Amino acid sequence: MRRKRLLLLGGSSEAVELQQRLRQLTQVEVIFSLAGSVSQPRVEASRIGGFGGVDGLVEYIRREGIDLLIDATHPFAVKISLNALTAANTVGIPHLQLVRLPWEKQQGDNWIEVESHQEAAEILPQLGERVFLTIGRQELGKYAHLYQLWFLMRMIESPSPPIPPGEILLARGPFSLQQEIELLQRYRIQVIVSKNSGGEATYAKILAARQLSLPVVMIKRPPFPPANRVFTVDAAIDWLRQLL
Ligand code: NAP
Repeated sequence: MRRKRLLLLGGSSEAVELQQRLRQLTQVEVIFSLAGSVSQPRVEASRIGGFGGVDGLVEYIRREGIDLLIDATHPFAVKISLNALTAANTVGIPHLQLVRLPWEKQQGDNWIEVESHQEAAEILPQLGERVFLTIGRQELGKYAHLYQLWFLMRMIESPSPPIPPGEILLARGPFSLQQEIELLQRYRIQVIVSKNSGGEATYAKILAARQLSLPVVMIKRPPFPPANRVFTVDAAIDWLRQLL
């Protein structure tokens, strides 16, 4: 019998874990797709690069005989997630979104929750002059006009201009609590900007902020239409087993 072909859209640590665990599921052939936004991904992909919007993805699904789609992209990667949902519905194949839960505010956290980078940039000057900007490299430009502030910006690969004033730190997590505390103290950081990505790998900065009583401007998850959604790799595997 022909194995089911699963298109797994990666970009999160959960996608990597799912891909590794699916090696044991012999009834399914996994096509692991990455955007190609980092030059040295942690894992080998079956294919790299965009599909060309919804139309391109629909065409790809039909051409490659894809039977199932799991979208395990990052919770802030809304464009590809919307494309995946639309394309799967258009072709009529089962679709699942695997997305980790957001972080919840804990006692001792001083979060200022905002809807967008624009809103974050508007309130930052009231919160401090030395900012730890941990939002990756794509949206740095939204803070580039804040000349009165100084930014420590951490990301995996070098950004393109416009870049806010400050220093760029190229590093890839996970980071330990001790590392984060030392970093915040060494650079005399007064406020942190973070997306509410969820997960363990980058949570230490949130713990460090709590410990040092620093405010965190927390960018909320972008809204997403109702979809078939799970929050853990185990649940994604259960979903898959039911369909095989
Ligand atoms: P995005 O705005 O949703 O997607 C931009 C375009 O990249 C998509 O329209 C699609 O191109 C292509 N793309 C994205 N993921 C893909 C995949 N797995 N396979 C093939 N093409 C893909 O996403 P983004 O925020 O730029 O993020 C790009 C990638 O980095 C995503 O895979 C995401 O999971 C990962 N990532 C994002 C963040 C974040 O904070 N945004 C953080 C960590 C990792 P076409 O329209 O041409 O198909």
